[in-house]
Amino acid sequence: MSVFYKGLSLTAVFCAAALFFSSCGLDLNGSEKRSKQIFAMDTIVELTVYGKNAEQATESAAAKIMELEAELSATKADSAVSKINSALGAAVTVSDNVKAPLLAALDISSKSKGAFDITVFPFVKAWGFVSKEYRVPGKDELSRLQDFVGFKKIEINGNAVSVPNGTEIDLGGIAKGYTSQCVCDILKESGVTGAVISLGGNAQTVGGKPDGSKWRIAVCDPDDPDNGTIGTLSVDETAVVTSGGYQRFFESGGRKYHHIINPSTGYPSESGLKSVTVVCADGTYADGLSTALFVLGLEDALAYRKSHGGFDAVFVSDDGTITITSGLKDLFTPAQGRQFSLYED
Ligand code: ADP
Ligand code: MG
Repeated sequence: MSVFYKGLSLTAVFCAAALFFSSCGLDLNGSEKRSKQIFAMDTIVELTVYGKNAEQATESAAAKIMELEAELSATKADSAVSKINSALGAAVTVSDNVKAPLLAALDISSKSKGAFDITVFPFVKAWGFVSKEYRVPGKDELSRLQDFVGFKKIEINGNAVSVPNGTEIDLGGIAKGYTSQCVCDILKESGVTGAVISLGGNAQTVGGKPDGSKWRIAVCDPDDPDNGTIGTLSVDETAVVTSGGYQRFFESGGRKYHHIINPSTGYPSESGLKSVTVVCADGTYADGLSTALFVLGLEDALAYRKSHGGFDAVFVSDDGTITITSGLKDLFTPAQGRQFSLYED
């Protein structure tokens, strides 16, 4: 059995080599620049910050990441999420750090008609994505677990959150995006002139680059995530988040099983997409949506956008076809030899 973990790659400008690397200095245009890497949320987090307060702002941002990880993790026993999951149906009072991504998750759940559902945790565990003892669960087992799954089972009254005994939540599909949004808010308040944060498949930018050019974010080729890109997005301040079946999966009996679950079946989603990259001003929504649209598939994802709007996306279908939505027309540059079709609204 083989296991793989992948993330979205940023252009070389932001790819530093070492873990826990931290540096400080002046960039070519004379503005203060601070880079920092930490390991959090099961991935490498890279921060690059420009401007007068870069050093102090970077430290505040790093502290916030660790604070959020401690509250939002479904695998750390003392996190707020674990307390909700083990409360046997009782209400648990949570901080706004937990309530905010929960509310965003529920909003995306109802808009996506349950394609995004943070109560998939029993399924995620059954496939071994938590214990890392990967296995293919039987149909009976999945249908028994189905009873515990359903976002409408989550109750929120003020800051008190409860789920029925046996139902468990997992913010893995939205926590990194919420974290990057919080980090960007802190960086903005600190008055930095520009910043980029990358957490696994999530990237989010603040302000502009010191030379006035756009941030360039490469979109991974889902067939060659280590080395290949399907193109580059040139963006101002925004979040760019990719979900794909290539990011975390195992192979068994000649088949691949990835970590994005169709909540209505309990099986890894097979919607005809290899990856979805969402470009959205809000990091929390960008993350939740990338997972939701991956489960919905191209047609329903485009229908979701028509009904609710607020984002653009790059889709890579199973046959390798690239589809971009209209707002990315002038921002997406395909890699050499790649074609794409533009979905006009
Ligand atoms: P990653 O976190 O690997 O970058 P995603 O943002 O797409 O990728 O989130 C996938 C994670 O979200 C899974 O590891 C699991 O914890 C959780 N998850 C899986 N399927 C769903 C779903 N349909 N709705 C909500 N969360 C999901
Ligand atoms: Mg996501």
